[in-house]
Amino acid sequence: MKPSPSSSLPRICVLGSLNIDLVSYVPHHPEPGETLTSSSFAVSPGGKGANQAVACAKLSRSHPSQSQQNDASSSSSSSSSSQPATTAAHVSMVGAVGADSYGELLRTNLSAHGVDVSGVLVAPELKTGIAIILVDEPTGQNRIVLSPEANHQVFGGSSSSDSNNAAVPSELPPSTPDLLIMQLEIPLQTVLLALEAAKQRGVDVLLNPAPAVVLPEEVYAGLAHLVVNETEAAILSGLPVATLDTAEGCGQAAEWFLARGVSTVIITLGGRGVYFKTASAGAGQSQASENHGLVPAEQVSAVVDTTAAGDTFVGQYALEVVSRGANGFSVEAAVKKANKAAARTVERKGASDSIPWRDELV
Ligand code: ATP
Repeated sequence: MKPSPSSSLPRICVLGSLNIDLVSYVPHHPEPGETLTSSSFAVSPGGKGANQAVACAKLSRSHPSQSQQNDASSSSSSSSSSQPATTAAHVSMVGAVGADSYGELLRTNLSAHGVDVSGVLVAPELKTGIAIILVDEPTGQNRIVLSPEANHQVFGGSSSSDSNNAAVPSELPPSTPDLLIMQLEIPLQTVLLALEAAKQRGVDVLLNPAPAVVLPEEVYAGLAHLVVNETEAAILSGLPVATLDTAEGCGQAAEWFLARGVSTVIITLGGRGVYFKTASAGAGQSQASENHGLVPAEQVSAVVDTTAAGDTFVGQYALEVVSRGANGFSVEAAVKKANKAAARTVERKGASDSIPWRDELV
């Protein structure tokens, strides 16, 4: 599947990590010194950046088999119809992989989902990033060890002698998207450079600061959307994580970010849902009453694997942002839709594989 060439589509650029997930499903998380036998094992494309790009792409179009059926029926009624499946956004990925089979797998997977990979650098002599993931089968909760490899070394990270280091950040973002999405699985310096570039070009940014590290305060000034889970909200704001147990506490954490210049704060709370708060009742809102609120999570048939739930949430929320525009955008409606998408991901094993297509949300 090729990215749509249409220039009229809203453009989302994801700048972030590409990792291969090595996933073991275990009966419980091992204690120190304990050796466990997994019930199953999978190698799959992942990385927060790549997952969020795939989420944007999958959630903006129908499942390919569904699309082919639609194409077949429309071509039987109109011989001139050779359009690909309708899509709600053009999604591009900027990142780096090694010149190895894992890197190839990641690029192929992104392309297959309709993501433009022309901004994904293949770095010679570097390894592709790896995430070792243990999924506790009874609860679906995961524990992750990340080896960033190409993700860190190319973007101004540890191997500063590499000539690519200086070149890549100065080119970011490669075009002027409607929304730039970033996480923190690439060097902070790259994120800061891209934030500055986006600010200069008037590009809205959605920051999903995961894994969380305390950020310089200037990151928050003018940031359009901050999406954090409760742990990240606590680390970044310095508030105790127990603060996030109540809606009042979430409001307190959200205020911390709003006071530093964020327009919309979204705190994801796992199975409890999402707390949101915006800078003012009027800013980017169609309803004054939407200024803050707790939106319950969608009911799930079973919690199978929470991997990529947050990434799916970000993908659907981003699509709502770019497709509605400033006036028609409702944070609460966007959160509801994103909860729905993330709930489908929780019900399935895997990372990008578990993210639903748009027609799976009905
Ligand atoms: P991850 O790192 O596992 O991708 P996260 O820690 O970034 O996730 P969470 O807050 O755990 O983010 O989950 C993101 C969203 O996924 C939630 O806001 C909710 O919409 C959905 N979700 C997560 N767990 C559940 C659940 N048990 N039931 C329903 N929805 C869930």
